[in-house]
Amino acid sequence: MSRKMAFSARCSGEDVLPAAFLSAPPTLRHRAPAAAEPRIREGEGISSAGSRRRYHRLTAALLLAMVTLATLRAAAAGSPAAPSGKGVGGWTIQWQPASLVNGAPVVFQVAPPARLSGLSAKWMQHDISFTYDPATHAWYGIAGISLETRPATYPLELKGITSKGSEISFVRKVAVRRGKYASVAVTVAQRYTEPSAEQLERIRQDKTVKQDVFRRTDSEREWLGKFRPPVDARVSDVFGTRRTFNGKFQSMHQGLDYAVPQGTPVSAANAGTVLLAGPLYFEGNCVVLDHGQGLLTLYLHLSETKVKAGDKVKGGQEIGLSGGTGRATGPHLHLAVRWQGVYLNPATLLNLKLP
Ligand SMILES: [Zn+2]
Repeated sequence: MSRKMAFSARCSGEDVLPAAFLSAPPTLRHRAPAAAEPRIREGEGISSAGSRRRYHRLTAALLLAMVTLATLRAAAAGSPAAPSGKGVGGWTIQWQPASLVNGAPVVFQVAPPARLSGLSAKWMQHDISFTYDPATHAWYGIAGISLETRPATYPLELKGITSKGSEISFVRKVAVRRGKYASVAVTVAQRYTEPSAEQLERIRQDKTVKQDVFRRTDSEREWLGKFRPPVDARVSDVFGTRRTFNGKFQSMHQGLDYAVPQGTPVSAANAGTVLLAGPLYFEGNCVVLDHGQGLLTLYLHLSETKVKAGDKVKGGQEIGLSGGTGRATGPHLHLAVRWQGVYLNPATLLNLKLP
């Protein structure tokens, strides 16, 4: 699916992708969603004589298909379908969103079989740190699934330390499906696609700044409750859109664009610490917030920033004003969500019900 877009105010490809990523990985091409649900075969019509046996076979096949369908649904949804009672081995593991795709953030909710002093997990070569929520007697940990992740079943390897100091562990298999992302073809002036030597030097310096900023994250949870949209406005471009600039694949849109005029107040999506507030070549004036547990939100192309590095902010607090600075074709707000080096779909994060 490819559609030509009117060249309105939007990002013209902020350089937030690792360089290796720019060589069009084949896994990211937009495809029809994987057929996860088995189809019940039709056509074995129940015709006149001698069809009783066939009828029974058909009934058995239908029953089998229905059971398979129910099993697959339950597996895809994790355990949120069965909130009551303990899961296998006394562990109850739930997650949001119920159906996971590549590019999605995920929050795991774990009720272990014993009182724990700490809980962590391994997930796709990442470490997840969990925080205990006394209100729900459960542990919560935010994680993500990179866009490059192939549809498959992945293990969530949990490790808990009991209050008596012994270690308990549990592995839960989690299904990941293929997300649906669009493609757009954009034609831009050459100066946008081929930076000058001076611009390249600036980009190289920015890279060092960003690497340093992203290293300074704190695993301690700072986010509290639901993430909220930073502006009240229409979404002008979604996450995951593949962009072809002047016929060449150049970037994947790694955030969510809001159509806002210059000077619109932009607020923090959740509580956190300011890691960076300043200008970068592609991002323009930007604010990077650390919400703990490896989760960051980024606010790009601002006309003005209202916070400084090190500031603690509350969810909903004004952090800047929207603009069109950096590599943008006009005023808009680009919101990005980053978890342990992986860009995730902000729209999904904004829909999670969090304690
Ligand atoms: Zn954008």
